[in-house]
Amino acid sequence: MINFDKNKYLPYGKQKITRSDISAVVRTLKSNFLTQGPKVPQFEENLSKIVESKYAVAVNSATSALHIACLALDLKKGDRLWTSPISFVASSNCALYCGAIVDFVDINPRSGLIDENLLEKKLETAALKKELPKVIVPVHLAGTSCNMEKIYKLSNKYNFKIIEDASHALGGEYKNQPIGNCKYSHITVFSFHPVKIITTGEGGIATTNSSFLAKKMTELRSHGINKNESEFFSKEEGLWHYEQINLGFNYRLSDIHAALGISQLKRLRKIIEERNKILKIYKSLGKNLKISFLEIPEDCKSAVHLGIIKLNTDDPEEHKKIFKNMRMKNIGVQLHYIPIHTHPFYKKLGFKYGDFPQSEIYAKKAMSLPLFPGLNKKNQMQVINYLKDLIK
Ligand SMILES: *Cc1c(COP(=O)(O)O)cnc(C)c1O
Repeated sequence: MINFDKNKYLPYGKQKITRSDISAVVRTLKSNFLTQGPKVPQFEENLSKIVESKYAVAVNSATSALHIACLALDLKKGDRLWTSPISFVASSNCALYCGAIVDFVDINPRSGLIDENLLEKKLETAALKKELPKVIVPVHLAGTSCNMEKIYKLSNKYNFKIIEDASHALGGEYKNQPIGNCKYSHITVFSFHPVKIITTGEGGIATTNSSFLAKKMTELRSHGINKNESEFFSKEEGLWHYEQINLGFNYRLSDIHAALGISQLKRLRKIIEERNKILKIYKSLGKNLKISFLEIPEDCKSAVHLGIIKLNTDDPEEHKKIFKNMRMKNIGVQLHYIPIHTHPFYKKLGFKYGDFPQSEIYAKKAMSLPLFPGLNKKNQMQVINYLKDLIK
């Protein structure tokens, strides 16, 4: 174990909490509602407005949002869901919760995003075998949108549904429109874990333009219970009446968390500008180093959730060594991500090394540098100087 000096340690990401965030939470603590009060619908409305979706359903994590999104799209036992191996495990676990079969499509090594050409080829093959996916989850790695126009076109041809895993991408844009407007998808999911763009402590949200999907997800987040009298099966009951019509969960977000989210959301634009500025500084400081930054396509404005670099080395030992030395210097570099199919649990499902070679190569080169609001240029210079010493 490496011992960190907490005061000097620079994590790869962290939250920023202001005084107004704190007073917003305190006001809710002093109010009548700690949960199921006015803050959750207000948060949903404010976020919907920003990402230009018709509906938003707030839940206690993006993992929960992915789960109920899959259920709302009727992903069932024997159905298939495809995503990218370079993501957090939640992007594919959601399929397994529903009893569905997971498969992956390799990445484009320059962007780290799902390779839409490989996707097209894999769909052609799957169509012949009658093994087409019901749902595809494009992951907007580091806050940069996948090629949604192409994926959407493919969805019309091959009849699958799209859930954008935009856990990294709140505040990002694709073709000058906000990620989350679901122009090229059925549902978009965001995370509010403290390392993400804004935080509610724990929390997530699903946006959609479909009233059917919004209603379904709203039911599923709270036990599958309907409280809308006009839709009761049994009409003549008393005032206590409610009906469970589906098997749902307690995935609710509390008003305490939502109050924090409302307050944080007000700074979204500033946060995105600052994150983009920090990345730009890294790029300029690192321009003579043997590293490359993930490509951001022309038609994307990235939310810059992560500062991912790739080392120009094919030697995994070199990657390991640089990681270890950076950590010893109190720089909390991290790998985003271990290819999902190489986790022991996924290997038990039948995946193996070699299945998705681009993702595996990427994971032997990638490293996330500290990147969060409040990181100053001095810190950044220090990070790059350490790297300079370590890269031969
Ligand atoms: C963080 C993350 C999730 C899960 O978010 P939680 O809110 O922690 O459940 C899912 N997918 C991706 C890509 C993430 O980075």
